[in-house]
Amino acid sequence: MGENIGNTSSNFIKRIVVDDLQSKKHDNIITRFPPEPNGYLHIGHAKSIVLNFELADEFNGKTNLRFDDTNPTKEDTEYVESIKEDIKWLGFNWDDLYFASDYFEEMYNRAVLLIKKGLAFVCDLTPDEIREYRGSLKEPGKESPYRNRTVEENLDLFDRMRKGEFKDGEKVLRAKIDMSSPNINMRDPIIYRISHTEHHNTGDKWCVYPMYDFAHPLEDAIEGITHSICTLEFEDHRPLYDWVVEACEMKSTPRQIEFARLNITNTVMSKRKLKALVDEGIADGWDDPRMPTIAGLRRRGYTPESIRNFCREIGVAKNDSTVDEQLLEHFIREDLSTKAPRTMGIIRPLKVVITNYPEGKVEMLEIENNQDDPSMGKRMVQFSREIYIEEEDFMEEPPKKYFRLFPGNEVRLKGAYFIKCNDFIKDESGKVVEIHCTYDKETKSGTGFTGRKVKGTIHWVDASSAIPTEFRLYEPLIKDEEIDENKTFLECVNPNSLEVLQGYVEDNMKGVKPGESFQFFRHGYFNVDSKYSTENKPVFNRIVSLKSSFKIK
Ligand code: ATP
Ligand code: MG
Repeated sequence: MGENIGNTSSNFIKRIVVDDLQSKKHDNIITRFPPEPNGYLHIGHAKSIVLNFELADEFNGKTNLRFDDTNPTKEDTEYVESIKEDIKWLGFNWDDLYFASDYFEEMYNRAVLLIKKGLAFVCDLTPDEIREYRGSLKEPGKESPYRNRTVEENLDLFDRMRKGEFKDGEKVLRAKIDMSSPNINMRDPIIYRISHTEHHNTGDKWCVYPMYDFAHPLEDAIEGITHSICTLEFEDHRPLYDWVVEACEMKSTPRQIEFARLNITNTVMSKRKLKALVDEGIADGWDDPRMPTIAGLRRRGYTPESIRNFCREIGVAKNDSTVDEQLLEHFIREDLSTKAPRTMGIIRPLKVVITNYPEGKVEMLEIENNQDDPSMGKRMVQFSREIYIEEEDFMEEPPKKYFRLFPGNEVRLKGAYFIKCNDFIKDESGKVVEIHCTYDKETKSGTGFTGRKVKGTIHWVDASSAIPTEFRLYEPLIKDEEIDENKTFLECVNPNSLEVLQGYVEDNMKGVKPGESFQFFRHGYFNVDSKYSTENKPVFNRIVSLKSSFKIK
């Protein structure tokens, strides 16, 4: 098997797994995805999900979904449900589903065991004092005056903490390790605190809650997790992780492995910040199409395949880096280029009257969906005397190399005829509101006309039958590539991240369903919005434009 890890040698985690299986350290591997249900999942979580699930899958192992719900103040069942939905949508199925809060009794008992072994004590120092006693990277810490309480006294106090005899913050339980350790995490870390808060799962059963560094290794060990993959900031916590597993006499010994968290340009990723965007009303909910949440990406029109491919491409590394957001866009373009039906839409309409086209006449034109791929078929598109084109496809005084419409110039209407601009009308403000053209019926598309050539091809929709449509165009929510350290991220919010425009689409788009994606000629990929679309008026989110200057390495 060791020879057979193919092009994945960059995946150092896979190497560890292969070694552990070969050396028979494990017969089977079990990974887990352990979100805290305090927000919606984002693309960073997707990286962790793809890694954990695909790793286990490759070696016929298992992956648990475990809600790491040990902090009662920020957690909510709404988040639990959304997390399950998002993982399934991404295409993954967990083996077992657990809540860390189901282990509260066992964790409590393990803490009691530590007390009995003289490895934990109840401390009355205030949070400020604890911080002060902890020391710094340069100085060792100072021992708490409560460190030498007897086992009996500690057992009694911890029991009374559980019974609710003390207020929040009045006492904590700390592991007794080493106040002079060079690793600050080992300086008698707090392992239990008091919080008189309702818990989404256990209600008011508990008023003492385990700290992450104590709870997480126990959760992993209880479930028999073999490889506990987390982000790099926990590297310094690993000695404590191992200490907890050993001191608590857990049967199974999980191994913590760290990898770099995903950062993306022009994007904030932490749930705390994403929640602030929602709470401040900057985002239209967690599923705002500008949000890097799975729900937001889904509503924007990203497919599970594109997100999985993105996660595979970025791989796992040991050092933090920031990925260009255009890489994510690359993968949705790639996925939709073969899947999304093609059509025409006008985002900023300008009316064109074809003065020599008979009034009242209507014809159906057969237009190829993809010139380069006949297998994508054809569709019928209505054409008549009045059409809409893009505002930007006409200029009264064109610069050099402008090949679209201007007075006296002829262009091809995609799939239809050549038209020539003769005249235009302006409103009082001087804006062009209507242009007048003539068409040449000899130039009909598909008839093999070779009489003359035109340099520009523009798209259009038939005015009499077009469906009024709202287009929503997006820019990144954060205007800077990276957040300046001297600014709060709210100061970096891009005020132009959403542009709402009223335009038209072809009438054969009638009946499109929320979630469907299309490629609009020249404009890019769009998805029918699930929140704002109505029966008569679809709303289209632009997922991405057609091209980017970005080159994938
Ligand atoms: P956040 O700061 O966004 O809340 P978190 O790490 O606190 O992130 P958790 O719900 O605790 O979020 O994370 C669940 C899992 O997802 C963890 O194993 C964590 O390491 C992983 N994860 C979270 N954010 C990222 C990211 N940006 N890149 C890779 N993995 C991530
Ligand atoms: Mg967190």
